[in-house]
Amino acid sequence: MHSAEKYREFISNLPGNVKLVVVSKTKTPEDILDVYNEGHRLFGENKVQELVPKYEALPKDIQWHLVGHLQSNKVKYIAPFIGMIHSVDSLKLLKTINKEANKNHRVIPCLLQIYIAEEETKFGLFVEEAADILSSGEFRELKNVEIRGVMGMATFTEDMDKIRQEFRSLKTIFELLKKKFFADQPQFSEISMGMSDDYRVAIKEGSTMIRVGSAIFGPRYY
Ligand SMILES: *Cc1c(COP(=O)(O)O)cnc(C)c1O
Repeated sequence: MHSAEKYREFISNLPGNVKLVVVSKTKTPEDILDVYNEGHRLFGENKVQELVPKYEALPKDIQWHLVGHLQSNKVKYIAPFIGMIHSVDSLKLLKTINKEANKNHRVIPCLLQIYIAEEETKFGLFVEEAADILSSGEFRELKNVEIRGVMGMATFTEDMDKIRQEFRSLKTIFELLKKKFFADQPQFSEISMGMSDDYRVAIKEGSTMIRVGSAIFGPRYY
């Protein structure tokens, strides 16, 4: 099936309160336009060096999210236009994002990436680390970043019960951080969890934002 058709089918089954980030890594600008022409404007990439040329080549009303690991030295390339960074996993990175956002006279929406999987290859903060960042004086001085919620990636496994538990723990962590640090701040509202193979479970467990690539575009090019 063509990606435009897959997209249409996908979006017609999606609950209205869940945002869809179409992850276009390895796909060409032409592939992306197939989905764009269906009316979609929210796309995600996992690498800065792939995102920047696509941003430049494609219509400027696309909202781009960075969903993959981000190194501090690359923040400057995306700070002028990035719509949201899902993968904040240190105070150092957050400070760099703040500095580059400030240079661009912007406030950049961010999610704290929480470590929920049982895989050492995955990035993310433990809940205590997230709490340390949010309670620090340094964090409170950052005026050009806005924490909108949390992101997590489940273990790569076919065991759906395990995946469900990991998503459930992310939801619990979200609620805990919300209560402790964002009780009066409605912008802290996003739980980014769920990909092509596990988005149904993620939505049942309270996801507000799913990141889907191959279920729409088919297998990636490598
Ligand atoms: C690639 C990627 C996705 C999408 O993966 P699919 O399995 O193709 O849906 C989601 N999130 C992140 C962080 C990714 O790197």
